[in-house]
Order: sequence, then structure tokens, then C-alpha cells
Amino acid sequence: MNKERTLVLIKPDGLFRKLTGLVIDRLDAAGLELAAAKMVTVSESLAREHYEALKDKPFFPDLIRYIRGEFHGLKDHRVLAMVYRGENAIRRVRDVAGATNPEDAAPGTLRGSFGRITTKGHFENVIHASSDPADAEREVKLWFRPEEILP
Ligand code: UDP
Ligand code: MG
Repeated sequence: MNKERTLVLIKPDGLFRKLTGLVIDRLDAAGLELAAAKMVTVSESLAREHYEALKDKPFFPDLIRYIRGEFHGLKDHRVLAMVYRGENAIRRVRDVAGATNPEDAAPGTLRGSFGRITTKGHFENVIHASSDPADAEREVKLWFRPEEILP
């Protein structure tokens, strides 16, 4: 028994391409349980804290612009943030998402079917999914207050 919680964000490209329902349907079909959901205005500081581990990467400034909706005309900087839970939820959500690079993501995964690489070489890959238990705990706490998540 390894019941986990994990953070999922429908990124601005996912919202812009009207993939919200499809993402939720895929996670539902995978047997994951939705424990929290809200639209969030992504401030510069929230974006930077979320992607803190990548702050020295050359693509970091554009990653911050991407998650804040600046490449998709989302002027209110919104994303849909959700907490999923279930047995091995972290890995199972990552399996539904597919590999980080949409070109490497298996056909049928969200990123394999709907991700793209921009002309600048950045990956627009539809959703964020926590990558390991430490990240998941940190990210769930960063995006949600405890009382917003089903007990
Ligand atoms: N990213 C990118 N180019 C890279 C690596 C990452 O554009 O070479 C972006 C991409 O949107 C990715 C995000 O940065 O989803 C976070 O990177 P991470 O390595 O944490 O991948 P993830 O956990 O999202 O699969
Ligand atoms: Mg990651």
C-alpha cells in the first residue's frame, strides 16, 4: 500500500488548446482520485518557486513566461491546479503524461499526442506532474492550503 498525493497543473497550452476535459478524463480512467482543484493566477514568485530546481537552466526565463500563460495570450496568468491521489499516484500520473520531451513521449500519452516543441526548442507539454515524493509534497503545499484538499 503506497497511497500518494501528487500535483497536476493543466499548463497554459493545455488550457489554450481546450484539453482540460480530456486531461481530467484520462486521469479518471487511470483510476486516480481527484482530491482538490482550483484555477490559480500564477504570480512571478509562485512560478519561480515552483520551478526553483531549474533556475540555472538556459530555458528558465521562458519557462516562467510559459507557465504564466504569456505565450498563449492568457492575460490573467491562469492554470488549473489539481491534487490527485491513489496507489502510486506520482508514477501513474507521469505515465498518463508521458516523457518531458513531447518527441520522446509515447503515442497515446498526453504529451505524445498533444505536446509540441517550440521554434526556440522549449517543450510545451500540456500538464505538469510531480516527479517524486519529495517534489510532490513540496508542490502540493506550495499550491494548496491543507483545508482545500479532501481529507
Ligand atoms: N523544459 C524545457 N526544456 C527542457 C527541459 C524542460 O522546455 O530541456 C520545460 C518543460 O515544459 C518541462 C518543464 O520545463 O515540463 C520542467 O522540466 P522538468 O525536467 O521538471 O520536466 P517535467 O517534470 O515537467 O517532466
Ligand atoms: Mg519536473
